[in-house]
Amino acid sequence: MSSQGVQPVKGMNDVLPDEIHRWQFLESTVRELLHAYGYDEMRVPVVEHTDLFKRAIGEYTDVVEKEMYSFEDKGGERLTLRPEATAGIVRAMISNGLLRGARHKLWCVGPMFRHEKPQKGRFRQFHQIDVEAVGFAGPDIDAELIALTAAFWQRLGIGRARLQINSLGTAEARRDYRAKLAAYFREHEAALDEDSLRRLEGNPLRILDSKNTDMQAVIAGAPLLPEHLDAESKAHFAELCAMLDALGIAYEINPRLVRGLDYYSRTVFEWVTDALGAQDAVCSGGRYDGLISQLGGEATPAIGFAMGVERVVALIEQAGTAPAAAAADVYLVAQAEAPLRTAMRLAEALRRELPARRIELNLGGGNFKAQFRRADRSGAALALVLGDDELTRGVVQMKPLREGLGDPAEVTIDNASTAVGAWLATRRP
Ligand code: ATP
Ligand code: MG
Repeated sequence: MSSQGVQPVKGMNDVLPDEIHRWQFLESTVRELLHAYGYDEMRVPVVEHTDLFKRAIGEYTDVVEKEMYSFEDKGGERLTLRPEATAGIVRAMISNGLLRGARHKLWCVGPMFRHEKPQKGRFRQFHQIDVEAVGFAGPDIDAELIALTAAFWQRLGIGRARLQINSLGTAEARRDYRAKLAAYFREHEAALDEDSLRRLEGNPLRILDSKNTDMQAVIAGAPLLPEHLDAESKAHFAELCAMLDALGIAYEINPRLVRGLDYYSRTVFEWVTDALGAQDAVCSGGRYDGLISQLGGEATPAIGFAMGVERVVALIEQAGTAPAAAAADVYLVAQAEAPLRTAMRLAEALRRELPARRIELNLGGGNFKAQFRRADRSGAALALVLGDDELTRGVVQMKPLREGLGDPAEVTIDNASTAVGAWLATRRP
């Protein structure tokens, strides 16, 4: 193997055991909350036909133009590592015949792949929690979905996230606006970069989404979309705002929020933070009433969002709200041979009878001094000690490993599980 073989792929990260507790805190909180709001988990493949993403996301997007991991497999199929989850979920709804007028509240979590320039908060493999409500026209579901995201931050202890919302109107209403926007940018062609010149013909709305700092002035002068909304979209948006007000959820209306992907209509929203530097979007979503029919399913309104797990984990780290990393509860210290074999049986019994507890048995031998050193490092509150003498008498020593946990005690091996369970219940609930 060349030395390159043991380097990680650029922009793809390992999540090491000393940070996993923050991921688990996020995942378990999200799982609980989505359950409470009536969403069911589903899982879709990481790989789909390239054509699906081209059709779903749109040709004139950074994702499709530059960022997809596409390849031809050994059978000559054009495939892509998913850059986002909505397309795959919609594909699954269609190919499994789940639409037919039904309504679904779904979510999934997993890795996404985009060939971007890696930097803080921006990676080539990253993770999203993706939530979709299919078959609902809103605006009630729009408000409830946003309330769900607000509840995330609250449960995760994250204070530094602000909500921005906007309405993109319907695709028809957008056509008008698109024409006006194209006319404006044509007048300012000299200020546009190469990507924007290409998008000017294909989809000028995408220019508003440009991250090029040199273009922010020309973007700031562009006509605004809300002034061109159709009456129904205006009413939809007004009702959404009234519902958010009723829920006490603060928001800013950002008329320039158009979102990176092509398929949105009406409600779009984004949670941004000032705590992560340039990568400020932590959760983005919107309504996509036209996507399902565009992909060949029966016309079905839908709304969803994706949360960037790495960025939220960084916020959790800053806030310090994740419960501490896992530590052992009990560490068994045993003399070689016969006592060790008994300790092994005792460890198995403890794991069976105290399934929520972390029970570590000293492995790889060592004298008592070395074993106690390991016991200490394991974070355990209690050591169970078994030597030849204890074995002969059928007992085991319970030795608290931290100050203030009481005195050592001796119990019979037969009673050890019960005694340890009671001991932990009062000291480490
Ligand atoms: P950005 O403006 O930061 O590029 P985006 O508009 O491309 O984001 P979406 O496609 O809406 O993002 O994805 C939803 C969320 O996924 C984002 O809000 C962000 O938190 C996260 N995300 C997107 N791309 C990356 C990436 N390359 N690395 C880490 N997180 C990402
Ligand atoms: Mg992006």
